[in-house]
Amino acid sequence: MEQTRPIYSFEVFPPKPTTPVEAVTSAFAELSALKPDFISVTYGAGGGLNGGRLTCELAARLKNEFGIKPVAHLPCISYTKEEIASVLEDFRAHGITDILALRGDRNPDMPEKNDFHYASELIDFIRQRGDFELYAACYPEVHPEARTAADDLRHLKEKVDKGATHLISQLFFDNASFYDFREKCDIIGINVPIEAGIMPVVNAAQIQRMVSLCGASLPRKFTVMMQRFGHSPEAIRDAGIAYAIDQIVDLAANGVDGIHLYTMNNPLVARRITEAVSGILGR
Ligand code: FAD
Repeated sequence: MEQTRPIYSFEVFPPKPTTPVEAVTSAFAELSALKPDFISVTYGAGGGLNGGRLTCELAARLKNEFGIKPVAHLPCISYTKEEIASVLEDFRAHGITDILALRGDRNPDMPEKNDFHYASELIDFIRQRGDFELYAACYPEVHPEARTAADDLRHLKEKVDKGATHLISQLFFDNASFYDFREKCDIIGINVPIEAGIMPVVNAAQIQRMVSLCGASLPRKFTVMMQRFGHSPEAIRDAGIAYAIDQIVDLAANGVDGIHLYTMNNPLVARRITEAVSGILGR
């Protein structure tokens, strides 16, 4: 039976607005050399419109200097319609055609502007303003603010119905939660590709921060690994890479639409994972 090749993509983030862009460009060059299908660039919710300019500049460089399709993240709750319209013009002027449309995390330092309350409203707004390819976020373990899992799924379907053609998942460490979610999406009629978000955990501090931010559940296999190897930077890096590879192999065997690797701008980790799974992903 002919299988379609899973999409393989990376996420990177811009440096702090006070740091020169050159701080990340050599990492971006190395990541681009691994030839993912696209690289998405986050948008710092705390950076104001300046955060958007950096995202735009780096996305344009990925495209023009490194020949990689960029996807620009765009959160909306802290912006007015005029501000979002100006960011879209900037994207258009830089030849950026793919946008991950997001609500954005609530941030006490960034007052909400009340023009946008949910990502679906942003998707609607962008759809009316031109020909962008729209991606949206999804949550295999349910978004932490959702009233119920069913509510969250209905809201996800709204994003697809309004024009998102591609979903990228929040990171998770238990593939079973992703399979369960994927089945529910199928039942409710969400039939766009869903890329699985994989975060290779390569140090102990990272896992504490990530889990408190996104609430991912930790399988016993993962916590045992952290306890056993957490004391040694080399051991936890190797174990984290091996864990991510194991997740990807299982996902590919179960017909995943795509893998979205949260690279943390770390080309060494991305290279080791890519080399290990390239045959499995048909690359
Ligand atoms: P939404 O889809 O709007 O959902 C948010 C909550 O509102 C959910 O609980 C949903 O169930 C609920 N909801 C939706 N519609 C309705 C409705 N009509 N009525 C009632 N409730 C509703 N943040 C950044 O700031 N910058 C980034 O670059 C960034 N990149 C990300 C990339 C990925 C792949 C992911 C998964 C997240 C990213 N985030 C980023 C974080 C994201 O902004 C947060 O998770 C945010 O809390 C939710 O964003 P969303 O677009 O999924 O929101």
